[in-house]
Amino acid sequence: MRRADLLDRLASETFDLLVIGGGASGAGVALEAASRGLKTALVERYDFAEGTSSRSTKLIHGGVRYLELAIKTLDRVQLNLVRDALHERAVLLRIAPHLSRPLWLLTPLYRLWEVPYYYAGLKIYDLLAGSARLAPAQFIGARGTLERFPHLNPRGLKGAVAYQDGQFDDARFNVELALTALQQGGVVLNQAEVTGLLKENHRLRGAVVHDRLSGKTLEVFARVVVNATGPFADGIRQMDDPHAPPLLRASSGIHIMLDSDYTPPETGLLIPKTEDGRVVFVLPWLGGTLVGTTDDPAPIVDHPRVREEEIAPGEGALELVGAAPAGCPAQGRYRPAGPRPPDPGKPLWPAHSGRGQVDHLPQNGPGPGELCHPALRVGGRPLPKRVPAFVGGAGLHPGWGPKAHSARPGS
Ligand SMILES: Cc1cc2nc3c(=O)[nH]c(=O)nc-3n(C[C@H](O)[C@H](O)[C@H](O)COP(=O)(O)OP(=O)(O)OC[C@H]3O[C@@H](n4cnc5c(N)ncnc54)[C@H](O)[C@@H]3O)c2cc1C
Repeated sequence: MRRADLLDRLASETFDLLVIGGGASGAGVALEAASRGLKTALVERYDFAEGTSSRSTKLIHGGVRYLELAIKTLDRVQLNLVRDALHERAVLLRIAPHLSRPLWLLTPLYRLWEVPYYYAGLKIYDLLAGSARLAPAQFIGARGTLERFPHLNPRGLKGAVAYQDGQFDDARFNVELALTALQQGGVVLNQAEVTGLLKENHRLRGAVVHDRLSGKTLEVFARVVVNATGPFADGIRQMDDPHAPPLLRASSGIHIMLDSDYTPPETGLLIPKTEDGRVVFVLPWLGGTLVGTTDDPAPIVDHPRVREEEIAPGEGALELVGAAPAGCPAQGRYRPAGPRPPDPGKPLWPAHSGRGQVDHLPQNGPGPGELCHPALRVGGRPLPKRVPAFVGGAGLHPGWGPKAHSARPGS
């Protein structure tokens, strides 16, 4: 379908759902909605996956560190998130084998007490996955570890727990979600920015969309408007209510890209704790080695760039495991950074985790005329982007579904 036709549809139809933001969350919501027969529009102000969704560590995982946190804080919500994500991992590996693969990860261990700790933790990870489990976690001794990851620093190495997680092409996954939403009858448009919200009697009726290519502005009407703008969600909230206090506080995670010499093609490393307490991954990726990530407070900006001082922790992690000589980041080929909101202390919805991910919308969540915020789980993983609970009706106001479309105002 041509862009002009999509713009015509945007301007002339009334949608069940208008999704703002074409990252993994927005594209996932749009796909779920369109494939369930809802009249769906999705607008993205730049390109699909322009934001955080192309800047991730590219793991399809439940999150070993989230599991650790859940156990330490006895947080059942967090635990459920890990379990759900592990099940979604299996789904994604099955339905998108061209974009994903299982990947072996080693957790190199240099202290004896770490061996039972990480072995037990990764066995629990397997247990939580249940039938969606990949290959079972196993302890391998120092020699076996070095055979599988020759660059590891052998000095004091006790061994490693090897486990499998998934790896995926985050940007292509995002673009495929958007294209499939289009194929399912949705109106899906990039370079289309929401600059304001349309209201009538205090009820939300749609949004003002600026076509960045033609410079034209149009009004798009919808029964439900979904704010899937990730780290920019506060901006849309404040279009809805200028007095709404900001809920997100971003931090940025950076990755550096090294030559392929530093990882075998089929195995990565999870370094559970660097000297400064970070979790760092060293992963084979597109013929190179992806090292990340840091987690520092940062302002929310459009195209975050890496500051030189942010690279230091990645370097430290490499040296810790002897994976690279000092100064290797000079070989870095690209350095994506991404905001990692929100503020754990201020969740939008009651169901939140210790890291601030918001799990599902409340059972009687916003319905027509109110702004929906599925993507305020932006601190989370893009896995549950099929968002079944959201558009499937369980998480939304019981009163809405694919009904007869209301007439456009004035028509
Ligand atoms: C460093 C880092 C590593 C990560 N690693 C992983 C990982 O390994 N595995 C994993 O599963 N998850 C990971 N995540 C989390 C994952 O990347 C995010 O949960 C996910 O990408 C969020 O997607 P989103 O659609 O909510 O936000 P985004 O991808 O940021 O999308 C929001 C979109 O909204 C658009 N937008 C904003 N304002 C407007 C407007 N006014 N009009 C129209 N469009 C607008 C933006 O341009 C943007 O494209 C990581 C996150 C970070 C930061």
